[in-house]
Amino acid sequence: MIACLGRIVHDNDAESKLDNDVSTIFNSLNLQGSIENGDVSSIASKDFGGLYSIKPLYLIRPSGADDISRVVKAAAETPHLTVAARGNGHSINGQAMAGGGYVIDMRSTEENHFKLLTVNDSPCIDVSGGALWEDVLRRCISRFRLAPRSWTDYLSLTVGGTLSNAGVSGQAFRYGPQTSNVTELEVVTGKGDITVCSETQNPELFFGVLGGLGQFGIITRARVKLQLAPDMVRWIRVVYAAEFLVSQKEDESFDYVEGFIFCNNDDPINGWPSVQLNSDQEFNQTHLPQTVSPVLYCLELAFHYRNSDQPSTVDMAVSRLVGGLGFVDGLISQVDVSYMGFLLRVKRVEQNAKANGVWDNPHPWLNLFVSKSDIVDFDRTVFKKMAKNGIGGPMLIYPLLRSKWDSRTSVALPEGEIFYIVALLRFVPKGPSVEKKVAENREIVKWCIKEGLDFKLYLPHYRAKEDWKRHFGNQWTRFEKRKANFDPMAILAPGQRIFKRTN
Ligand code: FAD
Repeated sequence: MIACLGRIVHDNDAESKLDNDVSTIFNSLNLQGSIENGDVSSIASKDFGGLYSIKPLYLIRPSGADDISRVVKAAAETPHLTVAARGNGHSINGQAMAGGGYVIDMRSTEENHFKLLTVNDSPCIDVSGGALWEDVLRRCISRFRLAPRSWTDYLSLTVGGTLSNAGVSGQAFRYGPQTSNVTELEVVTGKGDITVCSETQNPELFFGVLGGLGQFGIITRARVKLQLAPDMVRWIRVVYAAEFLVSQKEDESFDYVEGFIFCNNDDPINGWPSVQLNSDQEFNQTHLPQTVSPVLYCLELAFHYRNSDQPSTVDMAVSRLVGGLGFVDGLISQVDVSYMGFLLRVKRVEQNAKANGVWDNPHPWLNLFVSKSDIVDFDRTVFKKMAKNGIGGPMLIYPLLRSKWDSRTSVALPEGEIFYIVALLRFVPKGPSVEKKVAENREIVKWCIKEGLDFKLYLPHYRAKEDWKRHFGNQWTRFEKRKANFDPMAILAPGQRIFKRTN
């Protein structure tokens, strides 16, 4: 088999020969799934960011962990091949690509696991690492009326893809990120070993893989904590003329807390029209004070309830909670939606954007965690100056609590207990402006470093080892040690550009 792989790799200019060799390699790997040549038009060379296109040697559709293990072991027998798990390819900077290596399409394993269990008297579900969160939601609700506790805003992402980063949304202030809501994983390591891990069984692998940017293993199964699903959600937006988020205290009584910045103008994407939840209502800017800044703040909240709850009880509970928020009088918007409708809200945005042809535009996105101690500076420079005319997409900002994150995972966080996720989610038409937006993002990161802000990139993208060392800070040694233990030849997730493949 080694001879066969070596021959194919060193002969990769002979395309027709490759076709024949696909069946040879398929047989030599003894795959239950399927394999095809890497092609620039294949999903393996693309991601949501649309900024990179890197051609792999092969795209593998495994049937399960055994196939993945065989592929990793075969790569290990060559001097240079790498392996990237591809979840749903919703990375921005080619993180799920493997130039000249194997890309593993995890979606082919999405049906492999779906089992309800009780762990320590609490319900959990075993799901495939390649399952989409939206499918996990639909199946958990329809079969058990249960649902995971912590989400991302958008659910066409895989379980393994978000757990390799963190997975955050408006529930994270209460339950922590998705990485704080799993109790067990099955992982294929960079040595090709199939290993079950948890807080008590192979904990170093368990915590390493969570937020580990795919560096230590490929998640083939995850055990996710569940809770009773509500039927309905009261979805609320309130407007602030000054930084609500800086003074806002966490209120544990809402089930979801997010926020976004919008421009004080009628821009359809970033202006007043982006605030109203109910399309028949118009934003009434006459409520705003005379002297307001170019950007305004919208706090987005959700309150869960059941169909059996009395409407007056829900109204009372919501008014009590909203009453203490001190937003601009009259600038409140609210709707009642089903729980599924709420969690699938970005799917509707996707459908509209696809219909308008903008969903497939390049997305030079920037996500950061910024410590509360530095958010005023960040707001003054980035939102009020650099982004004051909008960015062609949402500008999210909401608070997270460090104590809800487990410091044993690989995620790098700012120092302070309260920090904000800041997401600049640009949709940019193809053309020269894309590079300009990438450069603007770079400027923001450079400014944060220069000013010594307590911040980390979320979904980080660096090229130089020095930058990665700074990113992980005092966790770098642990990260390197985990790599040496679980993927000593640096076979996995080369698209993150942290380690170079060795022999
Ligand atoms: P991919 O992009 O396919 O992979 C990401 C990385 O994980 C790669 O390095 C890959 O090799 C590795 N990987 C993939 N699968 C596995 C696996 N099974 N085991 C180990 N490693 C694996 N994030 C949030 O936290 N909150 C949000 O609200 C949110 N909203 C988003 C909305 C949109 C429209 C988009 C495009 C992204 C959003 N994200 C959000 C970011 C998203 O969580 C990450 O980009 C995530 O990595 C995407 O998942 P994926 O399945 O597409 O992974």
